Amino acid sequence: MRRGLVVGNWKMNGSLEFIENWISQYTAFLETQTETAICPPYVYISFLRNRLMTSAIHMGVGAQDCSVHNDGAYTGEVAANMLADVGCSFVIVGHSERRQYHSESNEMVAMKAQKVLEAGLRPIVCVGETLEEREAGRTNEVVLAQLNAVLDVIGPEMLVTGALAYEPVWAIGTGKTAIPEEAQEVHKILRDSVKSRNSDAGDSLRIIYGGSVKPSNAQKLFACPDIDGGLIGGASLKAEDFYAIAQAA
Ligand code: PEP
Repeated sequence: MRRGLVVGNWKMNGSLEFIENWISQYTAFLETQTETAICPPYVYISFLRNRLMTSAIHMGVGAQDCSVHNDGAYTGEVAANMLADVGCSFVIVGHSERRQYHSESNEMVAMKAQKVLEAGLRPIVCVGETLEEREAGRTNEVVLAQLNAVLDVIGPEMLVTGALAYEPVWAIGTGKTAIPEEAQEVHKILRDSVKSRNSDAGDSLRIIYGGSVKPSNAQKLFACPDIDGGLIGGASLKAEDFYAIAQAA
């Protein structure tokens, strides 16, 4: 049995006041069986972590990206070691917004996943096709190339320490969600590919879905056999919605 995992990606949203309010709203809810984490902007990681630690909420904190370097003259970058230092447990790598706006290649994403592991953290590796690629019938080819680039570097056993996130680019922040059958089909292809390298790793890997997940569609998505939770953007900004989604996983 794979334990559900629901991770919130706040992207470039939030403030100290927002975090205070989010925490006090979340505190009103009961704990869930699902493993949860929030990835705020870098500057709020320590604050969020400290606030969670002094609350009754059991929730991890993660980062939305990291550098491919350990340290040095890389202005504006943050190393995975630094994220470990401030108490992160997860790091998202290969989010489509990084691939799209920062030209991150499959190879760079694989290097980032490696840095995350070297820092003792858990990578959440994102894969997903654009609308153009889906319409051209290239979904499987694209997501498998993204996955295999990472597996070639870190191996299936290490990916299991974190998670794989399938996020069709056309569903992110658009309000369009993949129908559960569509998402399940891709999740199964991804799992089968990991299994072909290592059967146990394929069975235990958590593959989470992202793309306009809301309380109203979470249950049907998470009921699919190969969907083990979600990576949640917009809806994670509302404590109530994030909790409802976590409850569905
Ligand atoms: C995301 O950015 O990872 C995401 C899934 O966003 P949204 O839930 O807003 O579509």
